[in-house]
Amino acid sequence: MKIEAVRTHLLDHPLSVPFESASGRFERRTHCLVEVVCEDGAVGWGECLGPARLNAAVVQAYAPRLQGRNPLETEKIWLDLYNFLRDQGQRGLAVTGLGGIDVALWDLKGKRFGQPISMLLGGRFREEARAYATGGFRPAGVDRVEAMAAETGTYARDGFSAVKIKIGFDVEEDLKVIEAVRAAIGADTRLMIDANHGYDPLEAIELGRRAAKFDIDWFEEPVLPELLDGYRAVRAQQPIPVAAGETWHTRYAMREPLAQRAVDIIQPNVLGVGGFTEIRRVADLASLHGVRCQPHCWGTGISIAACLQFLSALPHDPPRPEPRAPMLEFDQTENPFRQAVLAQPILHKGGVVAVPDGPGLGVEVNRDALAAYALKAE
Ligand code: CA
Repeated sequence: MKIEAVRTHLLDHPLSVPFESASGRFERRTHCLVEVVCEDGAVGWGECLGPARLNAAVVQAYAPRLQGRNPLETEKIWLDLYNFLRDQGQRGLAVTGLGGIDVALWDLKGKRFGQPISMLLGGRFREEARAYATGGFRPAGVDRVEAMAAETGTYARDGFSAVKIKIGFDVEEDLKVIEAVRAAIGADTRLMIDANHGYDPLEAIELGRRAAKFDIDWFEEPVLPELLDGYRAVRAQQPIPVAAGETWHTRYAMREPLAQRAVDIIQPNVLGVGGFTEIRRVADLASLHGVRCQPHCWGTGISIAACLQFLSALPHDPPRPEPRAPMLEFDQTENPFRQAVLAQPILHKGGVVAVPDGPGLGVEVNRDALAAYALKAE
């Protein structure tokens, strides 16, 4: 089994209504898929987290190093690629590009052995995952408080037992949004808030103190990811559990937030943290430090499938007769190719998503959709 080619597929679609988080405005959905092809015709799929064109350039820079290699050697290949860009890389695009490739190699490995990746990671602790709906971005040109209440009310009626909304714009307005959303989803639906590092520590502490009465499960990315002392201050001075991790790539970037107890919940992204090879190490580190691991997920059906495989294999921590299960982050915002890239879409039923049990990621890619949503040359 030898790798013959590494291809990238850039997918792109303009949004009908642009929306914003505190860290940026979304006019389009653009994602980079990775296809690793072997000489015997076997194909593995991965996806990169973050800017699609830049990720594609990084993947193509790694590609010559994969030529002729055995895709089962995930650990050896990971180390070789990481080391190739180590001096100028270490995190960010150097790792998100590597992560897309690593996921594709694990897909190939699963297909080679006829087993889902979750089995290769040591076994399936769960066959399904409770999903939380991610949405609640700030849409362009409408009243945000009303829009958020209407949108999240729909998620609760669709059967989601938990929803996450975007804050980090302005403390007073964000509090109005949180109050309206809590009223819209009712007392029984779990609610999480994500500031996308839009606050400084003082604002985050104020927001957390005043929002706690709305029964918030976690306060995500309250402050800039570089400010670990800011995280510690927010954690110490307001009552909502603090979560972060989607921008901390590899075990090296995760080490200090965990060791310093900067967060209560760590949120590695399978694609962003460096693929399956690396996220299992991060999960072990989190367990070692007694920090809850609740993966981040964003992207197409490939990304969702990767997250589900990891979730399925994430050990109960602690084990007990009815253990707490981690949730799937399930983006509900507009993305016409999220499900179209899969031959069989991954859907929720009453807020619960089945973990695919086919080989590798357990999904098949719909090549017609790749063609239909291919990024047009500019
Ligand atoms: Ca987030």
